[in-house]
Amino acid sequence: MTWLEYVIKAFENLGGIASYKQLYEEIILIRNEEFSDTWKATVRATIERNSSDSSAYGGKNDIFYSVDGLGNGIWGLREYTLKENEETYRVNQNIKRIIRDTKIIKELKALHDNTCQICSCKIKIDKNKYYSEGHHIKPLGSPHNGPDIKENIIVLCPNCHVKFDNGMIDISKLKISENKYHKIDNQYITYYNEHIKKILE
Ligand SMILES: [Zn+2]
Repeated sequence: MTWLEYVIKAFENLGGIASYKQLYEEIILIRNEEFSDTWKATVRATIERNSSDSSAYGGKNDIFYSVDGLGNGIWGLREYTLKENEETYRVNQNIKRIIRDTKIIKELKALHDNTCQICSCKIKIDKNKYYSEGHHIKPLGSPHNGPDIKENIIVLCPNCHVKFDNGMIDISKLKISENKYHKIDNQYITYYNEHIKKILE
């Protein structure tokens, strides 16, 4: 297999969107050949050569796209098709609705490397596979009608997700882990505090 084929395969295994770090880890798992000292640079060059978002674009195959601008090291496979076995998660224990991750949530999970933004835990569910959930701080749908934008989404572990859904997290007392590519808008935190958070005596 060529490097391009390995990179595409790694993206498919990771759900179509991944950070360089995740790609490297996945390629180590799937490639049974010797690695040179510069193989990571080869991976980056392979992506950039095949992406019109990059200045190094070769002008031939436009296979990859930069998620949210160059510089954050997260790339997507343009023609990734949803697979049956794709990761799903429960939005809410009470309604037991299973939905697929949206593109935004996938991006944010990659950006935070599946690390909970509240308690910083990272749940390993398989060799090189981690699990996290995306949560809309101001919930989607009636009566809240929160927007599906990354400023309203937080990446959580299932424990913190259940607490969040039930208003049992006091955000004002916690430090939410953020990074420069993902800032949560305070208005949604205010909404949560005023409408969802429970005050138990
Ligand atoms: Zn957590």
